[in-house]
Amino acid sequence: MLIDTHTHLDFPQFDNDRSEIIKKAEQENILIITSAMGPDRIKKTLEIIEKHDNVFATFGLSPQEFDEKIIKETIALIRKHKDKIVGIGEVGLDYYWIKDSEKRKKEMENFKIFIELSDELKLPLVIHSRDAEGDVICELEKSGKPALMHCFSGSKEQAERAICFGCLISIPTSIIYSKQKQRLAKDLPLESMVLETDAPYLSPVPKTRNEPVNVKLSAEKIAEVKNINLEVVEETTTKNAGKFFGIL
Ligand SMILES: [Zn+2]
Repeated sequence: MLIDTHTHLDFPQFDNDRSEIIKKAEQENILIITSAMGPDRIKKTLEIIEKHDNVFATFGLSPQEFDEKIIKETIALIRKHKDKIVGIGEVGLDYYWIKDSEKRKKEMENFKIFIELSDELKLPLVIHSRDAEGDVICELEKSGKPALMHCFSGSKEQAERAICFGCLISIPTSIIYSKQKQRLAKDLPLESMVLETDAPYLSPVPKTRNEPVNVKLSAEKIAEVKNINLEVVEETTTKNAGKFFGIL
């Protein structure tokens, strides 16, 4: 069994064949954690998890969202459906798209709200971080809250610092061509690693739609760069993710 720890099944790219994509993963014995950002996507995702036993959800919000009404509504939906989800996310910081210092301050305030919420509701955190790994790790460290670092794009040193207090580093399907991801997978311990597709993004074949079944390709590539048995990669990453989300 494999676990795709991060996808976006609610995205319109799947509107025509969502059930087929999910069934295909089920036939391959793949569990899917789908990440919904904001009220509309959360509502759509609730319908998806109701229909499919191999799909679990995390609810969060894009760090680029500054609309107070949307932020409040998202938090209310997370509280309301806390028993239907396995985590809060993705949430975090994005310094790639947000350059303005006032807006970055606001991003940080929102991030802190979600860290507190995850503490209160006893749900694990899934982190989006783009060019902001230093601040994200610092904040998590302060809160003592281990998290899953989705599509980690920081340095080996930053990853090791996060691993030190229990974080998991998620390796996406772009490892097929990304030298940075290959180096990370090679250098970091398998005991701190999980797999993801970030579908429909980060396809192993650029410019095509990604899907959860491709998580197998990440496992194969990790086995190759670490020069270890594929079964060991599958078993260990599945155990790591299952324990983190409390689903196995
Ligand atoms: Zn994502």
